Amino acid sequence: MFRRTIFVINLTILLMVLPIHNSSTEIPSKQMSYIDQLFDIESMISQINSSTLYSYVESLSSFGCRYTGTENCSKAGEWIYDTFKKMGVSVSFHDWRYAGLTSRNVVATIPGMDCSSTVEYLITAHYDTSNGSIGSNDDGSGVAAILEIAKILSRYSFLHTIRFIAFSAEEIGTYGSFCYARDACRNNDNIRAVINPDIIGGAYSEEGGNHLRFFYPLRSKWIVDFAQNISLQFFDEIELHVEMFPNYIGADHQAFIDYGYDGVWVAQHDSSYAHTINDTPENINKTYLTKSAKLLLAIIAQLAMQPVDFQICFNTPYEGYGYMLNTPLFHMDFGKQWYTQLRGMTYILGSALTSVNVYAKDDVEYVIFCIDGNFIAWDSLPPYEWYIQGKHFPLLGRHFLQAYAVTKTGSIATDEMDIYVLSLSCEYS
Ligand SMILES: [Zn+2]
Repeated sequence: MFRRTIFVINLTILLMVLPIHNSSTEIPSKQMSYIDQLFDIESMISQINSSTLYSYVESLSSFGCRYTGTENCSKAGEWIYDTFKKMGVSVSFHDWRYAGLTSRNVVATIPGMDCSSTVEYLITAHYDTSNGSIGSNDDGSGVAAILEIAKILSRYSFLHTIRFIAFSAEEIGTYGSFCYARDACRNNDNIRAVINPDIIGGAYSEEGGNHLRFFYPLRSKWIVDFAQNISLQFFDEIELHVEMFPNYIGADHQAFIDYGYDGVWVAQHDSSYAHTINDTPENINKTYLTKSAKLLLAIIAQLAMQPVDFQICFNTPYEGYGYMLNTPLFHMDFGKQWYTQLRGMTYILGSALTSVNVYAKDDVEYVIFCIDGNFIAWDSLPPYEWYIQGKHFPLLGRHFLQAYAVTKTGSIATDEMDIYVLSLSCEYS
Protein backbone atom coordinates (compact mmCIF):
# COMPACT_ATOMS: atom_id res chain seq x y z
CA MET A 1 0.00 0.00 0.00
CA PHE A 2 2.79 2.32 0.98
CA ARG A 3 4.68 1.80 -2.26
CA ARG A 4 1.55 1.99 -4.37
CA THR A 5 0.74 5.46 -2.97
CA ILE A 6 4.20 6.70 -3.87
CA PHE A 7 3.82 5.29 -7.37
CA VAL A 8 0.54 7.09 -7.98
CA ILE A 9 1.95 10.42 -6.86
CA ASN A 10 5.15 9.94 -8.81
CA LEU A 11 3.32 9.01 -11.98
CA THR A 12 2.15 12.60 -12.41
CA ILE A 13 5.77 13.72 -12.21
CA LEU A 14 6.78 11.01 -14.66
CA LEU A 15 4.28 12.33 -17.17
CA MET A 16 6.06 15.67 -17.02
CA VAL A 17 9.47 14.06 -17.33
CA LEU A 18 8.81 11.53 -20.09
CA PRO A 19 8.37 13.86 -23.09
CA ILE A 20 11.82 15.29 -22.48
CA HIS A 21 13.23 11.77 -22.62
CA ASN A 22 11.29 10.88 -25.76
CA SER A 23 12.66 13.91 -27.61
CA SER A 24 16.07 12.25 -27.58
CA THR A 25 16.80 9.75 -30.35
CA GLU A 26 18.66 7.51 -27.96
CA ILE A 27 17.21 7.30 -24.46
CA PRO A 28 20.02 7.14 -21.90
CA SER A 29 19.70 4.11 -19.66
CA LYS A 30 19.99 6.37 -16.59
CA GLN A 31 16.74 8.14 -17.52
CA MET A 32 14.90 4.96 -18.46
CA SER A 33 15.79 3.47 -15.13
CA TYR A 34 13.81 6.17 -13.34
CA ILE A 35 10.62 4.30 -14.30
CA ASP A 36 11.96 0.96 -13.15
CA GLN A 37 13.19 2.17 -9.79
CA LEU A 38 9.67 2.94 -8.57
CA PHE A 39 9.14 -0.77 -8.28
CA ASP A 40 12.67 -1.80 -7.75
CA ILE A 41 14.30 -0.88 -4.49
CA GLU A 42 14.73 -4.65 -4.08
CA SER A 43 16.99 -4.62 -7.12
CA MET A 44 19.05 -1.70 -5.76
CA ILE A 45 19.44 -3.56 -2.45
CA SER A 46 20.59 -6.71 -4.20
CA GLN A 47 23.39 -4.78 -5.92
CA ILE A 48 25.17 -4.05 -2.61
CA ASN A 49 28.30 -6.14 -2.90
CA SER A 50 29.75 -7.50 0.30
CA SER A 51 33.28 -7.98 -1.13
CA THR A 52 33.39 -4.44 -2.56
CA LEU A 53 32.22 -2.99 0.75
CA TYR A 54 34.93 -4.89 2.60
CA SER A 55 37.57 -3.87 0.05
CA TYR A 56 36.66 -0.19 0.72
CA VAL A 57 37.19 -0.80 4.44
CA GLU A 58 40.57 -2.43 3.73
CA SER A 59 41.67 0.35 1.38
CA LEU A 60 40.81 3.09 3.86
CA SER A 61 42.44 1.15 6.72
CA SER A 62 45.61 0.77 4.64
CA PHE A 63 46.30 4.51 5.08
CA GLY A 64 46.82 3.73 8.79
CA CYS A 65 45.87 6.17 11.53
CA ARG A 66 44.16 9.16 9.88
CA TYR A 67 44.28 11.77 12.60
CA THR A 68 43.12 15.12 11.23
CA GLY A 69 46.00 17.28 9.97
CA THR A 70 48.27 14.33 9.15
CA GLU A 71 49.38 13.28 5.67
CA ASN A 72 47.56 9.95 6.08
CA CYS A 73 44.30 11.82 6.61
CA SER A 74 44.83 14.02 3.53
CA LYS A 75 45.71 11.02 1.36
CA ALA A 76 42.62 9.15 2.56
CA GLY A 77 40.48 12.16 1.60
CA GLU A 78 42.02 12.17 -1.88
CA TRP A 79 41.41 8.43 -2.23
CA ILE A 80 37.71 8.90 -1.38
CA TYR A 81 37.50 11.74 -3.92
CA ASP A 82 39.13 9.55 -6.61
CA THR A 83 36.87 6.60 -5.79
CA PHE A 84 33.71 8.69 -6.26
CA LYS A 85 35.17 10.12 -9.46
CA LYS A 86 35.91 6.68 -10.92
CA MET A 87 32.25 5.77 -10.35
CA GLY A 88 31.27 8.74 -12.50
CA VAL A 89 29.64 10.54 -9.57
CA SER A 90 30.04 14.32 -9.42
CA VAL A 91 32.45 15.08 -6.55
CA SER A 92 34.16 18.10 -4.97
CA PHE A 93 36.14 19.05 -1.89
CA HIS A 94 34.61 21.28 0.75
CA ASP A 95 37.74 22.97 2.11
CA TRP A 96 37.57 24.30 5.64
CA ARG A 97 39.80 26.12 8.10
CA TYR A 98 38.91 26.12 11.77
CA ALA A 99 40.61 26.02 15.18
CA GLY A 100 44.05 26.38 13.56
CA LEU A 101 43.40 23.41 11.27
CA THR A 102 43.05 23.23 7.52
CA SER A 103 41.30 20.20 6.10
CA ARG A 104 38.62 19.15 3.65
CA ASN A 105 35.36 17.22 3.44
CA VAL A 106 34.59 15.17 0.34
CA VAL A 107 31.15 15.82 -1.17
CA ALA A 108 29.63 13.62 -3.91
CA THR A 109 26.28 14.60 -5.41
CA ILE A 110 23.47 12.97 -7.37
CA PRO A 111 21.40 16.00 -8.45
CA GLY A 112 17.62 15.70 -8.18
CA MET A 113 15.52 15.55 -11.35
CA ASP A 114 12.69 17.75 -10.07
CA CYS A 115 13.86 21.26 -10.96
CA SER A 116 11.22 22.78 -8.69
CA SER A 117 12.66 20.99 -5.63
CA THR A 118 15.51 22.43 -3.56
CA VAL A 119 15.30 19.51 -1.11
CA GLU A 120 18.54 17.68 -0.31
CA TYR A 121 19.12 14.46 1.61
CA LEU A 122 22.56 13.85 3.10
CA ILE A 123 24.17 10.54 3.98
CA THR A 124 27.42 11.18 5.82
CA ALA A 125 30.38 9.46 7.50
CA HIS A 126 33.87 10.48 8.72
CA TYR A 127 37.22 9.39 7.33
CA ASP A 128 39.51 10.66 10.09
CA THR A 129 40.43 8.47 13.07
CA SER A 130 41.37 8.93 16.70
CA ASN A 131 45.09 8.65 17.54
CA GLY A 132 46.37 5.08 17.71
CA SER A 133 43.60 3.48 15.66
CA ILE A 134 43.22 2.69 11.97
CA GLY A 135 39.45 3.10 12.29
CA SER A 136 38.20 0.22 10.12
CA ASN A 137 34.82 0.35 11.82
CA ASP A 138 35.03 3.94 13.18
CA ASP A 139 34.29 5.07 10.62
CA GLY A 140 35.72 3.04 7.73
CA SER A 141 32.42 1.13 7.81
CA GLY A 142 30.37 4.31 7.28
CA VAL A 143 32.64 5.57 4.47
CA ALA A 144 32.50 2.15 2.76
CA ALA A 145 28.69 2.22 2.96
CA ILE A 146 28.35 5.69 1.42
CA LEU A 147 30.77 4.78 -1.39
CA GLU A 148 28.89 1.58 -2.23
CA ILE A 149 25.47 3.26 -1.98
CA ALA A 150 26.60 6.17 -4.20
CA LYS A 151 27.90 3.75 -6.81
CA ILE A 152 24.54 1.96 -7.03
CA LEU A 153 22.25 5.00 -6.76
CA SER A 154 24.23 6.89 -9.42
CA ARG A 155 22.77 4.41 -11.93
CA TYR A 156 19.29 5.82 -11.18
CA SER A 157 17.63 9.23 -10.93
CA PHE A 158 15.69 10.73 -8.05
CA LEU A 159 13.34 13.64 -7.49
CA HIS A 160 15.55 15.28 -4.87
CA THR A 161 19.30 15.76 -4.56
CA ILE A 162 21.32 13.22 -2.60
CA ARG A 163 24.72 14.16 -1.18
CA PHE A 164 27.28 11.64 0.10
CA ILE A 165 29.74 13.39 2.41
CA ALA A 166 32.91 12.12 4.08
CA PHE A 167 33.94 14.52 6.87
CA SER A 168 37.31 15.01 8.51
CA ALA A 169 37.93 16.06 12.13
CA GLU A 170 35.03 14.16 13.68
CA GLU A 171 37.27 12.70 16.36
CA ILE A 172 38.64 16.04 17.53
CA GLY A 173 35.33 17.90 17.92
CA THR A 174 33.19 17.26 14.80
CA TYR A 175 34.80 20.30 13.13
CA GLY A 176 34.41 19.06 9.54
CA SER A 177 30.65 18.60 9.88
CA PHE A 178 30.37 21.83 11.85
CA CYS A 179 32.01 23.83 9.04
CA TYR A 180 29.80 22.13 6.45
CA ALA A 181 26.54 22.65 8.39
CA ARG A 182 27.42 26.28 9.15
CA ASP A 183 28.19 27.02 5.49
CA ALA A 184 25.06 25.15 4.31
CA CYS A 185 22.91 27.15 6.70
CA ARG A 186 24.40 30.49 5.56
CA ASN A 187 23.81 29.33 1.98
CA ASN A 188 20.13 28.49 2.76
CA ASP A 189 20.61 24.87 1.69
CA ASN A 190 17.30 23.03 2.05
CA ILE A 191 18.67 19.91 3.79
CA ARG A 192 15.63 17.90 4.84
CA ALA A 193 17.41 15.03 6.61
CA VAL A 194 20.93 13.91 7.51
CA ILE A 195 21.64 10.21 8.01
CA ASN A 196 25.04 9.65 9.59
CA PRO A 197 26.29 6.05 9.73
CA ASP A 198 29.27 5.90 12.09
CA ILE A 199 30.38 2.44 13.36
CA ILE A 200 28.00 0.15 11.47
CA GLY A 201 30.25 -2.83 10.69
CA GLY A 202 30.50 -4.92 13.88
CA ALA A 203 28.17 -7.60 15.24
CA TYR A 204 29.35 -10.17 17.75
CA SER A 205 26.02 -11.57 18.97
CA GLU A 206 22.83 -12.83 17.34
CA GLU A 207 20.88 -9.82 18.62
CA GLY A 208 23.62 -7.46 17.43
CA GLY A 209 23.46 -9.01 13.98
CA ASN A 210 19.78 -8.17 13.63
CA HIS A 211 19.65 -4.61 14.96
CA LEU A 212 20.81 -1.19 13.79
CA ARG A 213 20.54 1.73 16.22
CA PHE A 214 19.17 5.17 15.36
CA PHE A 215 20.02 7.97 17.82
CA TYR A 216 17.72 10.96 17.38
CA PRO A 217 16.37 14.12 19.00
CA LEU A 218 12.56 14.24 19.19
CA ARG A 219 12.13 16.59 16.27
CA SER A 220 13.97 14.13 13.98
CA LYS A 221 11.84 11.16 15.03
CA TRP A 222 10.08 11.20 11.66
CA ILE A 223 13.33 9.98 10.04
CA VAL A 224 13.47 6.98 12.38
CA ASP A 225 9.77 6.23 11.84
CA PHE A 226 10.48 6.34 8.11
CA ALA A 227 13.50 4.01 8.59
CA GLN A 228 11.39 1.61 10.62
CA ASN A 229 8.76 1.43 7.88
CA ILE A 230 11.47 0.68 5.34
CA SER A 231 12.99 -2.01 7.55
CA LEU A 232 9.57 -3.72 7.83
CA GLN A 233 8.81 -3.27 4.14
CA PHE A 234 12.09 -4.92 3.10
CA PHE A 235 12.59 -7.24 6.04
CA ASP A 236 12.71 -10.37 3.85
CA GLU A 237 15.58 -8.85 1.85
CA ILE A 238 17.58 -7.21 4.68
CA GLU A 239 16.58 -8.84 8.02
CA LEU A 240 17.52 -5.85 10.14
CA HIS A 241 15.42 -4.20 12.85
CA VAL A 242 15.57 -0.47 13.59
CA GLU A 243 16.36 0.19 17.25
CA MET A 244 15.35 3.63 18.60
CA PHE A 245 17.77 5.41 20.94
CA PRO A 246 17.84 8.90 22.55
CA ASN A 247 20.07 11.43 20.82
CA TYR A 248 23.85 11.45 21.35
CA ILE A 249 25.49 14.80 20.70
CA GLY A 250 29.05 13.62 19.92
CA ALA A 251 28.62 12.58 16.27
CA ASP A 252 28.52 14.45 12.95
CA HIS A 253 24.70 14.60 12.66
CA GLN A 254 24.66 16.98 15.66
CA ALA A 255 26.23 19.88 13.75
CA PHE A 256 23.21 19.84 11.44
CA ILE A 257 20.77 19.64 14.33
CA ASP A 258 22.52 22.65 15.88
CA TYR A 259 21.91 24.57 12.65
CA GLY A 260 18.20 23.74 12.59
CA TYR A 261 18.22 20.67 10.35
CA ASP A 262 16.96 17.17 11.18
CA GLY A 263 19.42 14.32 11.55
CA VAL A 264 20.18 10.94 13.10
CA TRP A 265 23.29 9.00 14.07
CA VAL A 266 23.21 5.35 12.96
CA ALA A 267 25.39 2.79 14.75
CA GLN A 268 25.65 -0.91 15.48
CA HIS A 269 23.92 -2.57 18.43
CA ASP A 270 26.96 -4.35 19.96
CA SER A 271 29.78 -2.45 21.67
CA SER A 272 32.69 -1.87 19.30
CA TYR A 273 36.50 -1.70 19.22
CA ALA A 274 36.36 1.99 18.29
CA HIS A 275 39.41 4.10 19.28
CA THR A 276 41.57 0.99 19.95
CA ILE A 277 44.31 -0.84 18.06
CA ASN A 278 41.77 -3.64 17.54
CA ASP A 279 39.57 -1.54 15.26
CA THR A 280 40.85 -3.47 12.24
CA PRO A 281 39.29 -5.08 9.13
CA GLU A 282 39.42 -8.48 10.91
CA ASN A 283 36.83 -7.22 13.41
CA ILE A 284 34.39 -6.17 10.74
CA ASN A 285 31.44 -8.53 10.31
CA LYS A 286 30.98 -8.57 6.53
CA THR A 287 27.42 -9.90 6.68
CA TYR A 288 26.34 -7.24 9.16
CA LEU A 289 28.06 -4.37 7.31
CA THR A 290 26.27 -5.53 4.14
CA LYS A 291 22.90 -5.55 5.91
CA SER A 292 23.52 -2.06 7.36
CA ALA A 293 24.44 -0.69 3.92
CA LYS A 294 21.34 -2.28 2.36
CA LEU A 295 18.99 -0.72 4.89
CA LEU A 296 20.65 2.71 4.51
CA LEU A 297 20.40 2.49 0.73
CA ALA A 298 16.68 1.65 0.89
CA ILE A 299 16.01 4.55 3.28
CA ILE A 300 17.87 7.21 1.30
CA ALA A 301 16.53 5.98 -2.07
CA GLN A 302 12.92 5.99 -0.89
CA LEU A 303 13.30 9.41 0.75
CA ALA A 304 14.80 10.94 -2.37
CA MET A 305 12.08 9.65 -4.68
CA GLN A 306 9.17 10.72 -2.47
CA PRO A 307 7.52 14.08 -3.26
CA VAL A 308 7.71 16.76 -0.57
CA ASP A 309 4.40 18.62 -0.65
CA PHE A 310 4.67 20.69 2.49
CA GLN A 311 7.58 22.38 4.25
CA ILE A 312 8.10 25.27 6.65
CA CYS A 313 11.51 26.88 7.31
CA PHE A 314 12.55 29.84 9.44
CA ASN A 315 13.68 32.77 7.36
CA THR A 316 14.62 35.02 10.30
CA PRO A 317 16.24 35.24 12.75
CA TYR A 318 19.35 33.68 11.16
CA GLU A 319 20.84 30.63 12.90
CA GLY A 320 24.10 31.25 14.73
CA TYR A 321 23.83 35.07 14.74
CA GLY A 322 23.86 37.63 17.50
CA TYR A 323 20.92 40.10 17.25
CA MET A 324 20.49 43.45 18.92
CA LEU A 325 17.17 45.28 18.52
CA ASN A 326 16.18 43.14 15.54
CA THR A 327 19.49 43.69 13.73
CA PRO A 328 21.80 40.73 12.97
CA LEU A 329 25.20 41.98 14.10
CA PHE A 330 27.73 39.12 14.00
CA HIS A 331 28.20 35.37 13.69
CA MET A 332 28.24 33.56 17.02
CA ASP A 333 28.90 30.00 15.90
CA PHE A 334 30.77 28.65 18.94
CA GLY A 335 32.10 25.74 16.90
CA LYS A 336 34.20 24.36 19.75
CA GLN A 337 31.19 24.22 22.07
CA TRP A 338 29.47 21.16 20.59
CA TYR A 339 29.14 19.51 24.00
CA THR A 340 27.29 22.52 25.47
CA GLN A 341 24.92 22.68 22.48
CA LEU A 342 25.59 26.41 22.19
CA ARG A 343 26.85 25.79 18.66
CA GLY A 344 24.55 27.39 16.08
CA MET A 345 22.49 29.08 18.81
CA THR A 346 20.82 32.41 17.90
CA TYR A 347 21.28 35.16 20.50
CA ILE A 348 18.65 37.90 20.80
CA LEU A 349 19.15 41.06 22.81
CA GLY A 350 15.83 42.92 22.75
CA SER A 351 13.17 41.45 20.51
CA ALA A 352 13.70 40.09 16.99
CA LEU A 353 11.24 39.42 14.20
CA THR A 354 10.74 35.80 13.26
CA SER A 355 9.45 35.05 9.77
CA VAL A 356 8.91 31.73 8.05
CA ASN A 357 8.82 30.49 4.48
CA VAL A 358 6.04 28.01 3.80
CA TYR A 359 6.01 25.76 0.76
CA ALA A 360 2.65 23.97 0.41
CA LYS A 361 0.67 22.44 -2.44
CA ASP A 362 -2.57 22.89 -0.42
CA ASP A 363 -3.83 26.23 0.96
CA VAL A 364 -2.28 27.25 4.27
CA GLU A 365 -4.78 27.96 7.07
CA TYR A 366 -2.39 29.58 9.55
CA VAL A 367 1.07 29.51 11.11
CA ILE A 368 1.41 29.10 14.89
CA PHE A 369 4.44 30.38 16.80
CA CYS A 370 5.41 28.52 19.99
CA ILE A 371 8.01 28.96 22.69
CA ASP A 372 9.18 25.76 24.42
CA GLY A 373 6.32 23.84 22.82
CA ASN A 374 3.60 26.23 24.03
CA PHE A 375 1.31 28.26 21.78
CA ILE A 376 1.96 32.02 21.95
CA ALA A 377 0.76 33.61 18.70
CA TRP A 378 -0.52 32.89 15.23
CA ASP A 379 -0.64 34.53 11.81
CA SER A 380 -3.18 33.63 9.13
CA LEU A 381 -1.83 35.75 6.28
CA PRO A 382 1.56 35.82 4.58
CA PRO A 383 4.16 37.03 5.27
CA TYR A 384 3.96 34.82 8.35
CA GLU A 385 5.85 36.66 11.09
CA TRP A 386 5.88 37.51 14.77
CA TYR A 387 8.04 39.52 17.18
CA ILE A 388 9.61 36.96 19.52
CA GLN A 389 8.50 37.70 23.06
CA GLY A 390 7.10 36.09 26.19
CA LYS A 391 3.48 35.86 27.29
CA HIS A 392 2.71 37.29 30.76
CA PHE A 393 6.44 36.95 31.51
CA PRO A 394 9.48 38.04 29.48
CA LEU A 395 11.78 35.47 27.86
CA LEU A 396 15.12 35.32 29.63
CA GLY A 397 17.71 32.65 28.83
CA ARG A 398 17.62 29.58 26.66
CA HIS A 399 14.41 28.58 24.83
CA PHE A 400 13.30 26.90 21.66
CA LEU A 401 11.22 28.66 19.06
CA GLN A 402 8.85 26.58 17.01
CA ALA A 403 6.65 27.37 14.00
CA TYR A 404 3.73 25.17 12.89
CA ALA A 405 2.06 25.56 9.53
CA VAL A 406 -1.39 24.00 9.15
CA THR A 407 -3.10 23.50 5.78
CA LYS A 408 -6.83 23.64 5.13
CA THR A 409 -6.76 19.86 4.73
CA GLY A 410 -5.22 19.52 8.22
CA SER A 411 -1.59 18.65 7.36
CA ILE A 412 1.05 20.01 9.73
CA ALA A 413 4.69 20.96 9.09
CA THR A 414 7.04 22.32 11.75
CA ASP A 415 10.45 23.92 12.17
CA GLU A 416 12.45 24.63 15.32
CA MET A 417 15.27 26.93 16.36
CA ASP A 418 17.32 27.21 19.57
CA ILE A 419 17.40 30.80 20.85
CA TYR A 420 19.01 32.57 23.79
CA VAL A 421 17.01 35.69 24.68
CA LEU A 422 17.72 38.70 26.88
CA SER A 423 14.63 40.85 26.52
CA LEU A 424 11.86 42.46 28.53
CA SER A 425 9.41 42.29 25.59
CA CYS A 426 6.23 40.60 26.64
CA GLU A 427 2.52 40.35 25.83
CA TYR A 428 1.06 41.27 29.22
CA SER A 429 -2.63 41.08 28.30
ZN1 LIG B 1 33.14 7.81 14.62
